[in-house]
Amino acid sequence: GPAKVVIIGGGPGGAAVANRLRTADPGLAVTLVEPKEKYTTCFYSNLYLGGFRSFRSITFDYEGVKKRGINVVTDTATAIDTTAKTVTLAHGSVPLGYDRLVVAPGIDLKFDSIEGYSPEAAKIMPHAWQGGEQTWILKEKLLALQDGGLVVMSSPPNPYRCPPGPYERACMIAHFLKTTKPKAKLILFDAKKTFSKQAVFEEAFEEYYKDIIEINLTNEIDDYSVVKVNAQTGEVTTKSGRTERAALANIVPAQKAGSIAAKAGLTDGDWCPVNPQNFTSTKTKDVYVLGDAAIAADMPKSAYSAVSQAGVVAADIVADLSGKPRPPGRYRNTCWSMVAPGNSAKIGGDYSPGEKNGKPFLQGKNEFISKPDDSPAVRQETNQESRDWYQTIVADLFG
Ligand code: FAD
Repeated sequence: GPAKVVIIGGGPGGAAVANRLRTADPGLAVTLVEPKEKYTTCFYSNLYLGGFRSFRSITFDYEGVKKRGINVVTDTATAIDTTAKTVTLAHGSVPLGYDRLVVAPGIDLKFDSIEGYSPEAAKIMPHAWQGGEQTWILKEKLLALQDGGLVVMSSPPNPYRCPPGPYERACMIAHFLKTTKPKAKLILFDAKKTFSKQAVFEEAFEEYYKDIIEINLTNEIDDYSVVKVNAQTGEVTTKSGRTERAALANIVPAQKAGSIAAKAGLTDGDWCPVNPQNFTSTKTKDVYVLGDAAIAADMPKSAYSAVSQAGVVAADIVADLSGKPRPPGRYRNTCWSMVAPGNSAKIGGDYSPGEKNGKPFLQGKNEFISKPDDSPAVRQETNQESRDWYQTIVADLFG
C-alpha cells in the first residue's frame, strides 16, 4: 500500500506538514492526530485580549484539513514505539503504524517550577500560553476586573514559546485597561535581564502606558523570577522576596516540549534535539520533531518558524521515501508584535544549518528588527504586514 506518515499535533507545525505532504505527493497516506476539535491560535491571541479580535476569529476547526484528504484522528497519542513503528492512542484500540513519524506537540508548562501553581491554579491564575480555554479565561477575568484592580504578569526564563509574546501581551492588556479601566495597573515580573525587541517595547511602554505598566526585569540585585503563587489570596512572590496581591494574575511558567516527546525518548533535557538540515530527531530513526518542541536554536519558537520548518520536513520525507537527494533546508522567521493601535514592530531573518561550539545550530542571516524611532507610517505598514501574514497562514493551515 501507500507509504504511511503519521503526524502528532495539529498546530502550525503538524498541520503544515500534513498539507505540504498532500500537495507534494497525493499518493501518501497522511494521518494527523490531534485531541482538540478546534484550534485557537496563540498568535493574535494578545490582540483578542486587547480588544482587536474576537475569539471566533482566532479559532479554527479541522474541516478544511480533512477536505484535503488528510485523515484527521481526534485523539491523543499516548506512546510511540520506534522499533515497531507504531503510535498508541488514548481512545483508539489499534495502534497506528507509520513509515515516517512527525512529532509536533508544542509545549507543556513546567507547573512545578512555581510553588502553588498547577493546572487547577491556572483556572484562577491563567497562563494563556496554550490557546483555547486558557485564552478565554484570561479575557473573561480582564473583563470582570474592577477599575483600580491590580494585574500581575510573570514572564518566563529562556527558552520559551514566542520570545516577544509576554511584552506584546503587556501592551495589549495595558491598552485594554487604558481604554476600559483607566485606574487599573499592570506589574510585570520578569525572570530575564533582557528580552526580544526590548528597545521598541520600552519606547511603547513609555509612550502609551506610562501610568499603567511597571516592568521589573531581573538585575544584579533583584531576581524577579516568580517562584510562588497563592491562587486563593492572589499573592505572587518573586525570588528576591517581593510579594504583590493581584486581583488578576497571568502566570507564564517555564516551558518544555509537549510531554509525549519525553515519553517517547525524543528529549535531551526539556526539548528535542534535531538535525538542523531537516529536523530529523537525533534520538531515533524515521522520526521528525518540529515547531516549539524542537531545539532549533537560534530560530525562535514561533508559528512562522514552525511552518517554515514544516516545508523542509515535508520535502525531506517525500525525497527520502522516493530515494531522491535530500538537500539541507533553508528557513525563515518573522515575529510581529502589536504595541498600540496601528503600531506593530517586527524581528526576523533567514536561517541555515551550521554548527556552534560543536553543536548543531541554525545560523541567522539577513536579520532585521524594527527601530524605536520608526515613523508612524512604517509602523502602520508593519501592522498591515502582520495582518496579511495572519490571514495567509490561517488560510494555509486550516482553510
Ligand atoms: P502548537 O501550536 O502548540 O500545536 C501543538 C498541537 O499538538 C496542539 O494542538 C496540541 O493539542 C497537540 N498535541 C500535544 N500533545 C499531543 C499528543 N500527545 N497527541 C496529539 N496531539 C497532541 N508565533 C508567531 O509566529 N507569531 C506570533 O505573533 C505569535 N504570537 C504568540 C503570542 C502568544 C501569546 C503565544 C503564547 C504564542 C505566540 N506565537 C506566535 C507562538 C506560536 O503560537 C507557537 O510557536 C506555535 O503555536 C507553535 O506551533 P506547534 O505546532 O509547534 O505547537
